[in-house]
Amino acid sequence: MHNTTHRQGRTRGAGRKKSSPARKHRRTNSPNAQKHAAKRFAHARTRRTARKMPTFDPSQFINKNPVESTPDVYEPTHTFEDFGLSHTITNTLDTLGHTKPSPIQDQVIPHILERKDIVGIAETGTGKTAAFLLPLIHMTNVRAHHQTLILTPTRELALQIEAELRKLARGMRIFSTVCVGGAGIGAQIRGLKRSNHFVIGTPGRVLDLMQRKVFLPQHVSAVVLDEADRMLDMGFIHDMRHILGAIPSKRHTLFFSATMPANAEKLVSEFMKHPTRVSVRKKDTTDSIAQDVVPYELHTKYDTLVQLLKSDACTRAIVFGSMKHSVEKLSKQLTQSGVPAASIHGNKSHGQRQRALTSFKKGEVSVLVATDVAARGIHVEDVSHVVNYDLPGTFEDYIHRIGRTGRADKRGVALTFVARSHKR
Ligand code: AMP
Repeated sequence: MHNTTHRQGRTRGAGRKKSSPARKHRRTNSPNAQKHAAKRFAHARTRRTARKMPTFDPSQFINKNPVESTPDVYEPTHTFEDFGLSHTITNTLDTLGHTKPSPIQDQVIPHILERKDIVGIAETGTGKTAAFLLPLIHMTNVRAHHQTLILTPTRELALQIEAELRKLARGMRIFSTVCVGGAGIGAQIRGLKRSNHFVIGTPGRVLDLMQRKVFLPQHVSAVVLDEADRMLDMGFIHDMRHILGAIPSKRHTLFFSATMPANAEKLVSEFMKHPTRVSVRKKDTTDSIAQDVVPYELHTKYDTLVQLLKSDACTRAIVFGSMKHSVEKLSKQLTQSGVPAASIHGNKSHGQRQRALTSFKKGEVSVLVATDVAARGIHVEDVSHVVNYDLPGTFEDYIHRIGRTGRADKRGVALTFVARSHKR
């Protein structure tokens, strides 16, 4: 018996050749390069502008009377056996203690097994990953040449999905390679040269590997976009068009996301035909979270935060900041002030981010200071507080951030720092 094999890079910065000055000159001065540079600049400018000027009414961050979260008891209409999944899979689910399908699994698995394109709306923590992995593992088991590409916006989420795949495909000859940035490309290239049933990665690295002709999109039969709304926004849409445009159009396409704002929704039809929509989103996912603002003066902002994090009620907190360097500085400052903290942000290597997340998950530190990379898809149990030390860029980001607490019928608190001049 072979367990699921995973292949992933270990060293950093391998693979890319340095350009010669002449090549660099040709690259930067060709009309095509200039057109791309202008496009990139325009995007960066829009992104910067969007980031700098969040306009919020502070009352959006207040909900002092959260609904008592009496857990909704959902009675699934199927058992795992009803889906006709292979016995190895149902036995594994038994071993894992997953006795019945979660709502998203109950509703979406039959459609995926019928090879329907799907837009699935469900938050992280609802069993969303298994909802697409279980039928895809089954289909792979039935058709040996079935290859699934799973794209995620962050490395952490890619790794989390890969870990779930290894758990669910235990005892099956299912092979996978993780292709994420910030990790050495050499091992990923070697992994892709063997046959893979699942390739899980972030768009930039997958595109890079595709352009090197190591990842072959023509072999892909199913594509999953996790956190699809993010994958369809400005930062990723170009890569998405490149990657999905190269995959045969008769593919099976699955989008999963906690939210699907109008701008992302508009793009759905570009990538799939007549998708089946399944939503298990609660009416208002933030209903169970007590939300309030913390008005601050600049000179007392940090002390207010320390006081808050030291309070008895605050047992495990994620503090969100907007800039990579200020997040790093804040986590060091907090540790010095007697609040052990770890940080994750885009300037950290993949390994550093994983270590920070692990020490937070294990409870070695009670505070994780993060940029928005941590707001998406990451599953950490029992986060008592989410603190928006810096305002989020958009209200969608706010919803994603505070969704890290109050999960799975637990109560949570979300506090947003608002400058006194903003308070009405
Ligand atoms: P998600 O982040 O939505 O993929 O779900 C996260 C957690 O839900 C993981 O820890 C899974 O092991 C767990 N999970 C998935 N499916 C089930 C199920 N049917 N019953 C209980 N737990 C589950």
